[in-house]
Parts: sequence; structure tokens; C-alpha cells
Amino acid sequence: MTQVFVVNSGSSSIKYQLVDLETEQAVVSGLIERIGEPGEVPDHLAGMRQVLDALGPGREIAAVGHRVVHGGPRFSSATLVTDEVEAQIEELSALAPLHNPANVLGIRAARESLPGVPHVAVFDTAFHSTLPPAAYTYAIDAELAQRHQVRRYGFHGTSHQYVSRRAARFLGRPLESLKTIVLHLGNGASVTAVDGGRSVDTSMGLTPLEGLVMGTRSGDIDAGVVFHLAREAGLSIDELDVLLNRRSGLLGLTGTGDMRDVTDAAARGDAAAVAALEVWRHRIRHYIGAYTAGLGGLDALVFTAGIGENNASLRRLALSGLWFLGVEVDDERNELPSRAERFISPEGTPVAVLVIPTNEELEIARQAAALVA
Ligand code: ADP
Repeated sequence: MTQVFVVNSGSSSIKYQLVDLETEQAVVSGLIERIGEPGEVPDHLAGMRQVLDALGPGREIAAVGHRVVHGGPRFSSATLVTDEVEAQIEELSALAPLHNPANVLGIRAARESLPGVPHVAVFDTAFHSTLPPAAYTYAIDAELAQRHQVRRYGFHGTSHQYVSRRAARFLGRPLESLKTIVLHLGNGASVTAVDGGRSVDTSMGLTPLEGLVMGTRSGDIDAGVVFHLAREAGLSIDELDVLLNRRSGLLGLTGTGDMRDVTDAAARGDAAAVAALEVWRHRIRHYIGAYTAGLGGLDALVFTAGIGENNASLRRLALSGLWFLGVEVDDERNELPSRAERFISPEGTPVAVLVIPTNEELEIARQAAALVA
């Protein structure tokens, strides 16, 4: 019975799962919150001890899999954590100041609490290490970009990888032959073009800010907007960072960043919510068109994550009128309530449109176990 302990550490939280790789189920899962707040769990080490106490004694943990957001140019696959690797993950904090320091806190606490077990870092960027230069290069001063590691990295890689593989298996077709677009639509959202199992383009960039309209992030924006707001609205760099990452997207357009509230408001006829959904849809279609062109065709289009798995009307809204690409949605299949992997396109249409629930924890557990085996 191989069990992998999967840790997703935030600045004030630890999300964890004990995954059994034979049943592919989480044996235990949970969340420790408010770490560092007065009267709560003092720090990540105390939080980790609390989690491990709750798991109880006598557990055989084959490996600990850590979700790490930014692997920079250095990490292109799951990596055994050593002191050196831990230090390198911390050095990448310049590229992901909100995420990597929090991930390192979790790695430290877990390594200290479970010293006899191999720890594996699984990077959100790693799946996108196959992007060709044309897709990852920003057209700016090449020397400056090189010096500061400025390029597209992409994120949600663990999810895009898991979902694109499941899609091939679901279709019973070799991964190598498939051209797939994966729409990961959660709080954060990104879209990836997968050609023969390799990520060849993705909408998030140097940071998770670029691309689709998200809960609180703007997605694509003319960098000139930043200069304009700095000059005309007097906003500082930090204020602009907060504005674009935490107060934009659906939240900026409608006052709520939760898609359920936006769709409820739109159903009541709220004009801002209706308009926001149009912007959301416009951006998604922009990427579907671009990535179909980039792939030179399309075999499968896959929805995943909170919005992609749960909201049939948004799936239909996103894909309406794309029949000329071979993309169609069957209303009955689309609206069937189900948690299973499923088709939502009609029988016999050129592009298989699927819903595949993501499972990043399982993928992290698998990669960790494969590395230590
Ligand atoms: P995260 O990116 O935090 O992992 P999830 O993948 O869990 O996020 O997705 C969270 C998002 O999914 C939220 O914006 C939530 O409102 C949205 N969501 C979940 N269910 C639905 C639904 N039925 N309709 C619309 N949005 C939904």
C-alpha cells in the first residue's frame, strides 16, 4: 500500500492529503488555516506537527509531495528536495514573491517533521518547460530578459498534464497523436495547448497574472495601462500589483470575484455582471482560436477546475458559435449532472469536447512516488 503525503503550503495555511496510490483515493485530507495569527497555530512547523498527529502513528508514508508554484528555468520535472534544491526554490521567490516563500515554509516544516521520508517538489511550471522559444519569449530587450529570467513560464501545469493525459485515455487514443486544448477554469484560470502530450503554448506568463479573465486577476492587459495608471492615477508599483492581481478580473468588473455570484447576478439582469461574462467569454474564445491555429487543428477540448467542471451554461456560453472549428456542445450531455469524466459534444463531431475533473493532489502523489521508486 503506497501512500504519499501531499502538501500545498500557503503563507498562512497548509492544505494536505494522504493519497493512496493503489485506490487513487485521498485517505485523509484537510486544511490548517490562520497560521501565525494571534491565538492560532503559531507557525508552519506547529501546523505540520498538528497534521501529522491527526494522521496518527504507524502510517507508512512513501514520500512527501510538495506543490511548488515557480520552478523558474531550472526545474523542468519533479525533483527530490535536498538542502540545495530548497535553497534554489527560495531563490526563485523573486519570480513568485507570494508563492515560493510560502511553499518553502511548508517544505521546511515537513522535512523537519518527517526527516526519514523522501521529499519531492512538484512544480506548477514544470509541464510547460516544453514550450518552444517562440511561445515563451517576450519581445523585449533580450539581454535584460536573460539577466532577470523574464519569459513565459506558465502555471497550473500539474493540472494541465493530468487532465490532458486523462483525456487521451478517456478517448482511447494515443497521447502522441492528440491535439488538445485544456481550459482550467478555477479561481485562477489558464488555457494550454497540448500537442502529443507536450505543452506548446499556455496563457499564464512570467507570473499567473497573464491570460484569461480570473476571479481577481485581470489577465491580459496592455503593459501601457500600468504606466498610464502610475502617471495619471499616481499608483505605486505595489498598488498596481494589488490592483491587477487582487482587485481586478470578475471582482473588478462586478464587485464579486466568485463566479457563482456573477452568474446569479447576470441571471437577475445585472448589467455589470452580464457585461463581465461577455468579457470573460471573449477572452476564452480568443485563446481557443489562437491555440487551434497554433496546433494546426484540434482533436479535443477539455474543461476542468471549479467553473469548468460545474457550470454547464458557462461551458455552452464559451463555445457557442464555434461549429466552424468543429466544436459543438450537446445540451443534454452538457447539462447532465455528473462528477465523472464525460463527453459534452454530440456524437460524431470532429472535436471531442470533454469535462475531466482535475486532481492535482493525485498527480503530485504519482510524480513523487515515481521519482522515489
Ligand atoms: P482554485 O483555483 O481556488 O483551485 P477551483 O478550481 O476550486 O479554484 O474553482 C473555484 C471557482 O469555481 C470559484 O470562482 C467558484 O465560484 C467557481 N465555481 C464552482 N462551482 C461553480 C458553479 N456551479 N458555477 C460557477 N462557478 C462555480
